[in-house]
Amino acid sequence: MSRQPNRLLPTTVIGSHGIPGWMWTAIDQIDKGNYGQTDVRETFDDAVNLAILDQQRAGVDVITDGEMRRWYFVQGFYRRMDGLEVEPPLRSVGLYGYDTPKRYRASEKLTVPDGLGIVEEFEYTKKLADRPIKVTCPGPLTLTIHVRPGPAYKTRTELAWDFVEVINTELKSLAAAGADFIQLDEPSFAIIPGAMKDWLDMYNATVEGVDAKLALHVCFGNLTSRPRGKRTYRWMFPALLEARADQLVLEFANREMSESGLWREFSVEKELGAGVVDVKSFYQETPEDVAERIRELLRYVSPEKLYVSPDCGFFQLPRWLTYVKLEAMVAGAAIVRREIEGGNGR
Ligand SMILES: [Zn+2]
Repeated sequence: MSRQPNRLLPTTVIGSHGIPGWMWTAIDQIDKGNYGQTDVRETFDDAVNLAILDQQRAGVDVITDGEMRRWYFVQGFYRRMDGLEVEPPLRSVGLYGYDTPKRYRASEKLTVPDGLGIVEEFEYTKKLADRPIKVTCPGPLTLTIHVRPGPAYKTRTELAWDFVEVINTELKSLAAAGADFIQLDEPSFAIIPGAMKDWLDMYNATVEGVDAKLALHVCFGNLTSRPRGKRTYRWMFPALLEARADQLVLEFANREMSESGLWREFSVEKELGAGVVDVKSFYQETPEDVAERIRELLRYVSPEKLYVSPDCGFFQLPRWLTYVKLEAMVAGAAIVRREIEGGNGR
């Protein structure tokens, strides 16, 4: 059973880790059918092992499994669903982008017979991690992003509602297996604006009765390191505060710390998981860069409420750069922790 850290400014990640170079080669072979079942399992186990090792070696306080068993955030989950039909791609020539991934339509009501597989991911991680774990799961709106509703559903919202129970069941099983910190990812809040109340009703139903510390990550998209939503959170406030979450996890670094003052402006009681490392840039932050960003946030948030993280997942950066950025994040948090604790930083 993991226990959450008892220190100021705990460092964590959003979810995904940089994909190791060898894994691209392995996945190519897996796609060609050249790996047996055991080879495939070993490949993904090894990738998780490395993600955990990197985070622990960098000194991150709360780690994930790097989402190494998933593919491109949500794309891997469609393999687990019944009722999907592949749609012709919107665009298959040229640069990879948001209009490139495989699209599906719901030809019948969707089912996920063996669950989303996140419980199995957690069971494996639990055996290896020597520190607290955060488990991540896409929210219902984001999970259905590549699925068109028809003919089984009338609207995207109806389709997403069908996943509320699937995810809720997965989250309850996770909590029962000992996951005490669970983050739901809903970048689609920013990508499909204008219905925040509906999205929050959906999110709140998804986490209903889940006995764990809950975080909600809302970002602006990160495919090929590009955002997709309009990069401002202000319009979501104060509605977003209705989310049944102990922590909101938001991106700041790649927006030059814009809207750092939201916690004071809206007297927010929830914790803030703040992105202070830019995952969309090859720039190698120094520890002092990170410390500066944390200090800026601390003008508006009390240190007891602040978690330190990158803006989003690392899956669009190479593994070596992911590691460089994690080390800078940990060192930057340590600088500010020492300042707060009067030179006795742990
Ligand atoms: Zn994100």
